[in-house]
Amino acid sequence: MTAPARGAPVRGPLLLHHPVTIAPGAPVLEVAGVVRSSAVDGPGNRYVLFLQGCNFDCTACHNPTTIGRCDACGACVPVCPHGALSLPEPGVVAYDPAPCDRCKLCVTVCPIDADPAIRVVPVDVLVEEIRPLARFLSGVTVTGGEPTIQAGALAALFAALKADAGLGHLTTLVDTNGTLPPARWKPLLPVLDGAMVDLKAASSDLHQRLTGHDNVAVKETIRFLSSAGKLAEVRLLVVEGVTDTDEELAAWAEFVAAVDPGIPVRLMAFRHTGTRERARIWPETSPEAVDRVQERLTALGLTAVGSIGVSRR
Ligand code: SF4
Ligand code: SF4
Repeated sequence: MTAPARGAPVRGPLLLHHPVTIAPGAPVLEVAGVVRSSAVDGPGNRYVLFLQGCNFDCTACHNPTTIGRCDACGACVPVCPHGALSLPEPGVVAYDPAPCDRCKLCVTVCPIDADPAIRVVPVDVLVEEIRPLARFLSGVTVTGGEPTIQAGALAALFAALKADAGLGHLTTLVDTNGTLPPARWKPLLPVLDGAMVDLKAASSDLHQRLTGHDNVAVKETIRFLSSAGKLAEVRLLVVEGVTDTDEELAAWAEFVAAVDPGIPVRLMAFRHTGTRERARIWPETSPEAVDRVQERLTALGLTAVGSIGVSRR
């Protein structure tokens, strides 16, 4: 996901930092990280879970080490200065969270932008991780990476939250690239309050250049989630001279307006933070450029256009 910068990093004795026991058949999620308090990942104060793995390879990705899923090549193991990585058997890279200081040297050598220092966490452990925070939270947002790659376990997590007397008030959101087919969304919908979908470009050619994929499935998902009443918002990353041209904005507004002109639209400013070298060819997006896009989309008929994570000094 091309998420804006978030708050303070996680501190404290998280369950995620300790060894966990996984019962046979238990639903598990591959967790790249958590933020326990965020104001930019949906309404209110939210617990945010970052899942590992994405089927897009977006040039502008702010979390590129969540894209790959480790294939156990072993290249990162000797690089770790604290002995947190090992090869206990061929094809398996083991990660011990205890000595890891999150220096991230391992991810700098990975040829596929994977992170070996992720956790495979049972859903019931995540529920207990969230429980003591629940009275301060409005909800839980799952992002990544692309969270719907792990749709089955994601549905299990949301179902567990909804069924729990102490946690049922938490709203459940996903921040998605929109490529999951409608048939695979259906099991999620009863326990999902809404999806925030990135439509990175209305033109399929531009979408292909920005993500490595066309936008046919994304548009289908936006239509499907809107008709199901589960489309929380559509997001556009504003990259000056790339996604904010007159032609592109006209096509973007035409598509969204045809689905629902009142759907909340969230504009995000492109930032260099966290991106790879190839994204640095673009300048960071100014607040004025975001304002221009907001005015343009509003003039084109979208009635609920706003922005998030735009710093105005
Ligand atoms: S982030 Fe990677 S290299 Fe650094 S201590 Fe942890 S496992 Fe080792
Ligand atoms: S994280 Fe990357 S470098 Fe390390 S074992 Fe997995 S694929 Fe290889």
